[in-house]
Amino acid sequence: MNPKHSFPIKRLKIAGQPEHRIEAAPAPGEVAAMPERIPLLKARLRVDTGDRVKIGTPLYEDKENTDIVFASPAGGQVVDIRYGPRRVIREIVIQTEKAEEHEDFGAPPGAELSRTTRPRLVQILLNAGMWPLFRDIVYRSVADPAETPAAIWVAMDNLDPFHPPPEIYLSTPADLRQFKTGLHALNILCEHTHVCKSAKSADLDAEIENRVTHRVRGAYPAEDPGVVHFHNKTTTSENRGWFIRGQDVVLLGEFLETGSFPTRRIAAVSGADIESRYVSTRIGAPLHTLISGVIEPDKYRWVTGGLFRGYSGSIKSYLGLYETGLFLITESNKRELFGFMRPGTNKPTCSRTFLSIFNPKPLSMDADMHGAKRACVNCGNCTRVCPVNILPQFTYKCIRAGEIEEALSHGLLDCVECGLCSYVCPSKIELCHTFQETRHAYFRERI
Ligand code: SF4
Ligand code: SF4
Repeated sequence: MNPKHSFPIKRLKIAGQPEHRIEAAPAPGEVAAMPERIPLLKARLRVDTGDRVKIGTPLYEDKENTDIVFASPAGGQVVDIRYGPRRVIREIVIQTEKAEEHEDFGAPPGAELSRTTRPRLVQILLNAGMWPLFRDIVYRSVADPAETPAAIWVAMDNLDPFHPPPEIYLSTPADLRQFKTGLHALNILCEHTHVCKSAKSADLDAEIENRVTHRVRGAYPAEDPGVVHFHNKTTTSENRGWFIRGQDVVLLGEFLETGSFPTRRIAAVSGADIESRYVSTRIGAPLHTLISGVIEPDKYRWVTGGLFRGYSGSIKSYLGLYETGLFLITESNKRELFGFMRPGTNKPTCSRTFLSIFNPKPLSMDADMHGAKRACVNCGNCTRVCPVNILPQFTYKCIRAGEIEEALSHGLLDCVECGLCSYVCPSKIELCHTFQETRHAYFRERI
């Protein structure tokens, strides 16, 4: 990490840090795959309602590269395919069978790993639906298997509140072994594999600690692979990097050792009025299986995948492929009488607007907007928190004026879509959402 760069936010004071224990969630009767949650994907179905599938059966593919397939996280029957606006495939729901079958991908490739060539390994991972675990560092979409990246970044931590740290998802000898097997495979795919770990995470086994190449200090999103990459790249040729999350490296290792598509997930469950903890579940699990006893589920916004970059849903939603956290935020839109006169000791603030700036305790989050959107007041908060030195307010104004080239010259493609600028904006301008939409539009025009 560039030693000159210091992250403006040292600590996010958000209540709900899970306890260090893992509970087993009940086995779900149905699971779902959610193509809509894969950035920039144009999905085409490979199954229909009523089809029987095994764990690992391709459910859908990338229309623009049909070699990239997405495997079923369950064995059973496809009971529903739900669509969103413009027929976007939202959820493919599978009713699980008691004895779920696995697709046969041949002998486990792990035993032969040292003798496996890169093209062969790419083909094995594509066939088994493991490829989507690799993502492009610029657009955060599924990596292009035809490319050789300048580097693969392993993001061991995800500090977007709240996700399991490495000491949780690597808590057993089998996890550690599979993680090492996964790292071995990454070395075959790319000669430069960088392993990033937060300095806040507990020490692991010495062999893994020796593999860590970047120790990151600071709060979210200091650990983000896009941010670490931004502060370490020296030439534009290094832009074409990939990343993979630490927990997905374990899945990669499990697949290589067993030859079966892995489905397990450790997820953090946290938020208002609930006991925050880690749960052992599976990819695509219904959210209601992760938390029991929520009496008024509609009172909350069910956010999966992180508070800043996650997806809002309800109790009827599922855990997406990349999601390892569920956070319940109280829905609220109440008007406070004389709210502007209150000191706000319990309201999160990044701009000294409330007295809570002097309160060291973590504060609860709610979904209250505290008033309507306003015009930019040029406070500079967004610029102060941006981890990749973009000037968000100017970039936003360029986009609104249709000056996309100008926005690109401000570094729009370096944006890691962390959401911090939107979070700190006192005018509630949807900066991050605007940047994401523009980046996606630019990507689609380019291909
Ligand atoms: S522009 Fe906003 S969303 Fe993008 S990296 Fe900067 S702070 Fe994060
Ligand atoms: S934080 Fe919001 S109001 Fe402040 S400069 Fe940025 S866009 Fe403008």
